[in-house]
Amino acid sequence: MRPPPRTPWWRSALASLGARNPRSARAWAAVALLATSVTCVGSTWFATGELRWPELVATGSLLALSAALLLLPVVVTAPLVVLAPLSGTATVLWLDLVSRDAGLTGRVFFTVPVIWAASQLRAGGTVVVTAATIAADAVVAGTLLPREEAVTTFAYTTTLLVLVAGTLARGAWKQDRLVEQLRRQARTDPLTGLVTRRVLDAATERVATAGSPAALVVVDIDRFKCVNDTYGHLGGDAALAHVAGLLAAHCRERDVVARMGGDELAVLMPDCPPAVAVQRAERFVEAVREAPLVLPGGQLVPLSISAGLAAVPGDARAARDLYASADSALYAAKRAGRDRLARAPGS
Ligand code: GH3
Ligand code: MG
Repeated sequence: MRPPPRTPWWRSALASLGARNPRSARAWAAVALLATSVTCVGSTWFATGELRWPELVATGSLLALSAALLLLPVVVTAPLVVLAPLSGTATVLWLDLVSRDAGLTGRVFFTVPVIWAASQLRAGGTVVVTAATIAADAVVAGTLLPREEAVTTFAYTTTLLVLVAGTLARGAWKQDRLVEQLRRQARTDPLTGLVTRRVLDAATERVATAGSPAALVVVDIDRFKCVNDTYGHLGGDAALAHVAGLLAAHCRERDVVARMGGDELAVLMPDCPPAVAVQRAERFVEAVREAPLVLPGGQLVPLSISAGLAAVPGDARAARDLYASADSALYAAKRAGRDRLARAPGS
C-alpha cells in the first residue's frame, strides 16, 4: 500500500487543538455551558432578588453558544467546540471582575473549562485552555485581592488547575491509545498481516455501490488439513502466511487482500473489468502452484489453491450477493478437482 501523505506541521498543530471526539465534545460543551449559565443566573437571583445585566448578558451568550453547538452540523461546530471552554473562561473572568468576587464562589468556576478541555480536547487544546484560565485567574486575583493573598490563592488555584488538567489529559491520552490499538487489531490479521473480513466487508459494500466494474476472488488453500497434519500447526501457519504474501505480491495498491478466516483469503479488485479480473485470478492460482513454501530446514511444501470469482455488476449488485456468488464459484472449483479458478456464471 502507498504510504500516507505527510501532514503539514500547521495542520497537525491545528488538529492538536481540536476535540478528540467532535460529536461527544460538542454535546458535553453544550451541557457545561447550559449548567454554567443556569447557575450564574440562579445564584445571582437567589442572592440579590434581581437579575442584573452582566449576568443576563453572560447567560445569553453562553446559551446562544450552547444552542449553536447542539443545532448546527458537526463540521460547522468543530471550531466552536474549541472556543467553548475559552468563552467559558472569559465569562467567568468578566463576571468576577464586574461583581468584584475573587473568593471561592467566583473562582471555582474556572475549573469547569479546564476539566472540559482536558477530558474532551487533544493535548494542544488542553494546554491553551489551561494556560488561558490560569492567566484569567491571575487577573482576578491580582486586580481584586491584596498582593499577599493574591499570590497565595493564585498558587493554590494554579496547582489545582494544572493537576486536574494533567490527570484528566493523561487518562484521555491512554484511552485514545488503547482505542487505536484495538482498532488496529480489529483491522489486521496478526498471522498473515492482511486486513480482516471487517475491512473487506466495508470495502465490498463501497465497491458494490460505486457503479464501476469490480471483482471479488475468494481463495481457499487445498487440503490444508494435510499440511497441518504433515508439517504441524507452525508449518500450516507458515503456509498460510506464504500464500497470503504471494497474493499480496500479485495485487495492485487499490486491491484489498483479506483473510476471511481459517485458510480462506479474498481479493477485492475495484475498477477491474471481468476479463482482466479472471486473468489476474488465474495468475494467483499459478503463482501458488509455482512457488512452494520453503521450510527453515530447506524442505519444500507444495501448495495449491482453489479460487472463485464473481463480478459486479454481472453477478451481483449488492455486497452480500457478490460474496455468495464468489463463494459458490469457489465450491465449484473444489468440486472440479481443486488447484483452479471457477467463475460465477455472469463473469
Ligand atoms: P479443502 O481442499 O476442501 O479446502 O480441504 P482443507 O483440508 O483445506 O479443508 P478446510 O479448508 O475445511 O480446512 C481448514 C483447516 O485450516 C482446518 C483448520 O484446522 C485449519 N486452520 C484454520 N485456521 C488456521 C490457522 O490459523 N493456522 C493453521 N495452521 N491452521 C488453521
Ligand atoms: Mg481449505
